[in-house]
Amino acid sequence: MTTDLAIARQARKLPIPEIAARLGLTPEDILPYGHDKAKITRQALAALEGRPMGHLVLVTAINPTPAGEGKTTTTVGLGDALNRVGKRATICIREASLGPNFGMKGGAAGGGRAQIVPMEEMNLHFTGDFHAITAAHNLLAAMIDNHLYWGNALGIDSRRITWRRVMDMNDRALRDTVVGLGGPSNGFVRQSGFDITVASEVMAILCLATGLDDLQARLGRIVIGYTADRQPVTARDLGADGAMTVLLKEALQPNLVQTLENNPALVHGGPFANIAHGCNSVIATVAALRMSDYVVTEAGFGADLGAEKFLDIKCRMAGLRPAAAVLVATIRALKMNGGVEKADLAAANPGAVRRGCANLGRHIENLRGFGLPVVVALNHFEGDSDDEIAAVQGFCTEHGVKAVLARHWAEGGAGAEDLAREVVAMAEAGRADFHTLYPDAMPLWQKIETVCTRIYRASHAEAAPGIRQQLEAWEAAGHGAMPVCIAKTQYSFTTDPARRGAPEGHVIPVREVRLNVGAGFVVAICGEIMTMPGLPRHPAAETIRLDADGQIEGLF
Ligand code: ADP
Ligand code: MG
Repeated sequence: MTTDLAIARQARKLPIPEIAARLGLTPEDILPYGHDKAKITRQALAALEGRPMGHLVLVTAINPTPAGEGKTTTTVGLGDALNRVGKRATICIREASLGPNFGMKGGAAGGGRAQIVPMEEMNLHFTGDFHAITAAHNLLAAMIDNHLYWGNALGIDSRRITWRRVMDMNDRALRDTVVGLGGPSNGFVRQSGFDITVASEVMAILCLATGLDDLQARLGRIVIGYTADRQPVTARDLGADGAMTVLLKEALQPNLVQTLENNPALVHGGPFANIAHGCNSVIATVAALRMSDYVVTEAGFGADLGAEKFLDIKCRMAGLRPAAAVLVATIRALKMNGGVEKADLAAANPGAVRRGCANLGRHIENLRGFGLPVVVALNHFEGDSDDEIAAVQGFCTEHGVKAVLARHWAEGGAGAEDLAREVVAMAEAGRADFHTLYPDAMPLWQKIETVCTRIYRASHAEAAPGIRQQLEAWEAAGHGAMPVCIAKTQYSFTTDPARRGAPEGHVIPVREVRLNVGAGFVVAICGEIMTMPGLPRHPAAETIRLDADGQIEGLF
């Protein structure tokens, strides 16, 4: 079998200025990072202002299972296919976190013949954006402890500091730490810890900011902790926002790369899809829309978490109006949603596929609830049987949506032309009538309940009185207009990852709420959410090395 990596290495890449030219950008408009990557300059972005925008297409999926759905692969395949059917299409996806590569194999650049290159670099240091985010985040952390050291003029309660440190590595030993040990010259001893960089609020901020001024304003609004009388202390109070912005000014410029078929892709930002909103940057999406007929983008996890946040957080804040949604499903994942175990996936089982379609149907209804036309992309795997494919097509016909078989993983863009034509038909018919799930003015708790009942189909959400009071206090402090970002398992509509299919009537317990004033949303944590992952017993790192030709082995 040819691996994703082997295919990526055979890519016939064009020099990056040629890809830029396809977007109407001159060599002065880009800052090349080597031969095959470039940032688009701030000046070039500014020059795009006021231009009309193309159609925005969201790629999302049914609830993920270990069987795999292929959202990124489909995003890339659809982008290539749109170009093949004569549209100028750009792909917008997230950058990859470096740390998880060393735990389990797997890349974030698509797969098979639908990939973005250079995939190794995209999955590792790329253009250094995540390192810059790590540095900006940790600068603020250092300034907090330094402020305590020099007398704590702001009266920060060292037990109530919520700002932790970050690094882009899976390192469970750092989840809970004590800082300041070693005597008076090292500051004050207090408990803290590390999160992975993609969980940083700075990451979410970079992805939602519309420009440098907005970036700095958002950074300044970050709440780092509280005083003894529970007053919030911000990054601006510490005077950190200017220096943090300096560290992020390059990172705020989107990265241009290309697909295996030499079509443009903007890969920029990568917030977690649980405690953050899980989409690429607003700056990249808006720039791509101003330079293309179509922009294909992906939101993390299944449509219940990913699409909901894309629509209720990113589109709401940036004023974006998607034209259509593509819901990715695979026969394998539908079988698992229909009760089949991973070990039994090879056997054809149209009955289980049919049962699993309940999950698909739920997501179709949810997406339509946002006013979006939907097409199901059946991402074809070798071994899918005709009866199983017919079961999905039958279900979709009954529900009034098209299910299009797409073979981009095996065939590249040529394998997804039918899907592309369907997307064009939906977008050009102007069938979208997008609206968010709830208005800004709705109280915070009611927003949480609305997502739980309308999207997850829970009977209600539940929280200790302290949590409801906290939300009311934030409303009183002027934060009530923010959207909510629900952090919950991606595997189920419930908080139990084992409950596949389309459960309803369950209860969603809200354990904790967090205020991200800089990002501009309130996080509601429902269930166990990991903000610093660990490595498995035998991490991929044990077998990653350079071969005799200096090429990476064991990473993908
Ligand atoms: P997601 O974005 O949903 O997490 P990806 O697109 O990154 O998923 O795909 C995950 C993995 O599955 C990749 O290694 C990719 O090569 C593989 N994959 C995706 N689609 C197919 C397919 N149709 N056949 C075989 N492997 C596939
Ligand atoms: Mg993906």
